[in-house]
Amino acid sequence: MDGDTINCPKCAHTMISGFVPDVGHSDIHLSKWHEGKPKKSFWMGTKVSMKDGLPIRAFKCSQCGYLEFYAHQDFKAE
Ligand SMILES: [Zn+2]
Repeated sequence: MDGDTINCPKCAHTMISGFVPDVGHSDIHLSKWHEGKPKKSFWMGTKVSMKDGLPIRAFKCSQCGYLEFYAHQDFKAE
């Protein structure tokens, strides 16, 4: 998973590495994977520990648009 491209499991065309931004009111983060079911928060909508979770890397197929996600600590903003 070190490269920036992989092959699509649906149509075998090239998939390109990217990410899904998590846009807040005044900042933008990488979306993160968290274990378990989401829990409601009165103030925030959903309870989330910002220090936990794994950054999500998303590959998009250049032909059919299929998305494949990988959660790994090493995928972060540089
Ligand atoms: Zn495809």
